[in-house]
Amino acid sequence: MSLNSVRPWRTIERRKSRQIMVGKVPVGGDAPISVQTMTNTLTSDVKATLDQVIRSAEVGADIVRISTPDQDSTRALREICRESPVPIVADIHFHYKRAIEAAEAGAACLRINPGNIGDAARVREVIKAAKDHGCSIRIGVNAGSLEKHLLEKYGEPCPEAMVESGLDHIRILEDNDFHEFKISVKASDVFLAAAAYQALAEATDAPIHLGITEAGGLTTGTVKSAIGLGNLLWMGIGDTLRVSLSADPVEEVKVGFEILKALGLRTRGVQIISCPSCARQGFDVIRTVEALEKRLEHIKTPMSLSIIGCVVNGPGEALMTDIGFTGGGAGSGMVYMAGKQSHKMTNAQMIEEIVRLVEERAEAIEAAQNAAE
Ligand code: SF4
Repeated sequence: MSLNSVRPWRTIERRKSRQIMVGKVPVGGDAPISVQTMTNTLTSDVKATLDQVIRSAEVGADIVRISTPDQDSTRALREICRESPVPIVADIHFHYKRAIEAAEAGAACLRINPGNIGDAARVREVIKAAKDHGCSIRIGVNAGSLEKHLLEKYGEPCPEAMVESGLDHIRILEDNDFHEFKISVKASDVFLAAAAYQALAEATDAPIHLGITEAGGLTTGTVKSAIGLGNLLWMGIGDTLRVSLSADPVEEVKVGFEILKALGLRTRGVQIISCPSCARQGFDVIRTVEALEKRLEHIKTPMSLSIIGCVVNGPGEALMTDIGFTGGGAGSGMVYMAGKQSHKMTNAQMIEEIVRLVEERAEAIEAAQNAAE
């Protein structure tokens, strides 16, 4: 019996989209919602760009996007794509030749709006390159760069204009018998983005790429993205996402995963449940959680850990987590394993001991999974 049949209030019914491939990563249909980020290095600096791609992949990025504004970038893309552990999306604006070069260089997907690259012959050339090299395409509509005729028709960026723009681009691809595409309708305004995405979800069965664009810095952008993307995901909309932050791409991936984890849509690594702490705490909760987050970054196996300052909430939270620690008196607390009291531990030992317990548990879960395969 699945968790959701026991607790129906947790159920999210995903919109039915068709599935496409971004390299080896399926997007849409019943594929897990993939997490993307984008590098912010000079693409021509292969080493720096690859380093960001690899660091992003290590914290869970499924797909990474890279800007290719010039020929130096598309040249560098060849080595980056060859060495990257995850599929690369080449970000192209207007220059159809960059799109062809990126497809030839090994990009798994082209982010390009076919309506913006010129006449029908150019569009055909780009689509042929995408087909020849097994690239998918992401149509990326942005409220800030809507076509002039749509702004004139609607007066200002609005959900209707964004969806119309998206459908116009879709039509161009479909007229050229190209169906391996996904689409986004991003805006920095949460209300506008959410309304546009809802209308888009009704208008097409293409996989949807979610994003609140130019969301802001780490804190403000995280809050905006969690509200905007969180609402849409909760409605079942979204097959892949990027959290846009003025921050290290690694942070974007972490935030994206946390949004999915909070909604139970994906799991990865240790989910720490911790209390805010107060005068009742039996140990320094904040410092401990900070230390544990760093020490447990390498764990990929999904599991839960509760770190609670005192018995007010500790035993209750421990009931629902794989491993728990609840602060007590006299410099020690209680360890819980699978919801049951296990043993006492001093505060001085707890970080080392909890890291050891989590690593052991991760190994046991992995071993059981491998044996079952
Ligand atoms: S669990 Fe205890 S220490 Fe933590 S906030 Fe609640 S009362 Fe305070």
